[in-house]
Amino acid sequence: MPNAYQNFLSQLDRALAVVPKPVALVTTLQTPNRIIEHTLGIQKDNGAEQSFSAYRIQHNNWRGPYKGGIRFHPQVDLDEVKTLAALMTFKTAVAGIPMGGGKGGVTVDPKTLSSTERERLNRAWTNAFRADIGPTVDVPAPDVNTGSADMDVIANEFGHPAVVTGKSITHGGSVGRDTATAQGGWYVFEALRSHLNLGPDPLTVVIQGFGNAGATFANIAHALGHKIIAVSDSSGAIHNSAGLDIPALHLYKTAHRSVQGFPGAENLTNSAMLELPCDLLIPAALESQITGENAPRIKAKVILELANGPVTTAADDILFVNNIPVIPDILANSGGVTVSYFEWDQNMKSEHWSALEVDQKLRDHMNAAATAVQTIAVQHGTDLRRAAFIVALNRLQETESKQK
Ligand code: NAD
Repeated sequence: MPNAYQNFLSQLDRALAVVPKPVALVTTLQTPNRIIEHTLGIQKDNGAEQSFSAYRIQHNNWRGPYKGGIRFHPQVDLDEVKTLAALMTFKTAVAGIPMGGGKGGVTVDPKTLSSTERERLNRAWTNAFRADIGPTVDVPAPDVNTGSADMDVIANEFGHPAVVTGKSITHGGSVGRDTATAQGGWYVFEALRSHLNLGPDPLTVVIQGFGNAGATFANIAHALGHKIIAVSDSSGAIHNSAGLDIPALHLYKTAHRSVQGFPGAENLTNSAMLELPCDLLIPAALESQITGENAPRIKAKVILELANGPVTTAADDILFVNNIPVIPDILANSGGVTVSYFEWDQNMKSEHWSALEVDQKLRDHMNAAATAVQTIAVQHGTDLRRAAFIVALNRLQETESKQK
């Protein structure tokens, strides 16, 4: 299997084979603008010093400030974070927001930090990267193992709320950010539905990952009367062809820390779950879950990528031949960064938008993005991933040429 950055480069190449672009533009987009590395030193509660590797990748800023999360993980990997930074450049362009692409990480197991040590680490991060970030320069956000409390500390240490998004509401966060990725994914699906050759409601839905993105998507689809027939988390999957009671499953998961064993459902493996017949398969956990190996056995009618990079390019080819459309991550999960942009915009203008206003703007952005991608897919007779990359490339090229 190719490494993550090679997979991104090959996705880019495949779009460029449909719509070629100037070599200089492509070369710039194949490489991040800057990779910034610092060593952060903090004092532990017991008085000892500990240091951590930290970095920020600024991929591209033609369309606006670099935008993307900060990941805390013991195995933070430069290749993965470089890939996520590059995907952010394309995601913000597809979503039609005036932001670029970036991503960051700290090599740390956050479970080993007390809350005061974690706060010191966030303050150290802010001071190390102070010259590289800022409301009009680079605007980080939460990612794996970071959340609103971390963003609140960074904003406080930096001295301006618009330096990060994903803050708590009381510290300048936006209403609707916590549900934005799944809600945006639903709006994208709704906008494309008439092109997807699905039967009437209720739809049958399978969701891999019952975290922020996956569980919120389950809530939305369940509330609309669709049947969530299987879900999984890191412990395994559960299945009930009559549909799972999602509110009861939330209570069960909180009590048992796992979805497995939920009354009335059968346990099965994550890999078997991915191969269940269904209308909509939602990968919302990890990358590289549908590959050249299992793609021939996928029986879903449509795949919507709430996770980043869950379907490899080898799988894309097999699914295309098998007539299974894949709604790609850079479109399907772009609702999260879109509401992050709304948060930044509110902070810059000292405004506070209502839940209704945020939701309406999110729906409008997702409709426009999905329609642009669908139009290009039809125009070039290509799949939605290539089409999404082409939409982004066209917008990036347009912005770059205006800057000359
Ligand atoms: P999360 O940590 O809240 O949830 C992840 C879920 O996946 C958990 O339920 C976990 O148990 C499950 N999981 C882990 N390993 C698994 C495995 N092997 N099989 C099945 N399930 C497994 O994370 P999240 O914020 O929901 O993010 C999920 C994906 O969505 C990631 O790829 C992330 O990059 C992407 N994403 C999230 C957002 C957002 O706003 N949360 C935005 C864009 C993209």
